Amino acid sequence: MKVKCVLCEKINDIDDDSIMAKRLRNRPIHTYMCDECYERITEKTTARLASREEKDLNDI
Ligand SMILES: [Zn+2]
Repeated sequence: MKVKCVLCEKINDIDDDSIMAKRLRNRPIHTYMCDECYERITEKTTARLASREEKDLNDI
């Protein structure tokens, strides 16, 4: 099935039998994120968490 990444709007063709396809069939297509964006978001979140921890330590 064809899915569109919600962030970069790249169209991907994913396996109909994959877990992702099954998940998307039950939810709006807008929840799909391509691997690149997913990694970018994960990195950003991890970086934010790390910098926050650093800041908290500095406050002590
Ligand atoms: Zn993307």
